[in-house]
Amino acid sequence: MNRRNKRLFNVGGCLTLEAISDFLKGTLAPHDIRKINQHLENCMVCSEALKGFRNQRRSGAMRSDIAFLSGKIRKRYMSHGRVNRLMPFMIIVSVLLSLILLLVVYYIIRNFLAAG
Ligand SMILES: [Zn+2]
Repeated sequence: MNRRNKRLFNVGGCLTLEAISDFLKGTLAPHDIRKINQHLENCMVCSEALKGFRNQRRSGAMRSDIAFLSGKIRKRYMSHGRVNRLMPFMIIVSVLLSLILLLVVYYIIRNFLAAG
């Protein structure tokens, strides 16, 4: 294992996923850990990401809750899928109907004015 050559930071100067994962696993060299800690002090994004990873790893129960919830949400979305697919069609129909109505009203008014 040659972790010394591993890139800890991406092009944007933030921690890579691998770096965060290795940091949590505790498989990094002390000087890499020091570099990461230094970055975490200055970077909200990475420290928040690390916090999220840490919580995810800590609670397997929470993860299964999330899987349960996303399954429920997916099911709900699927049952509404038919309605959602009809929506663009409904919008087009209602726009066309109101255009036709507008045209009819326009011609009635025009004819009324011409006759008058
Ligand atoms: Zn960062």
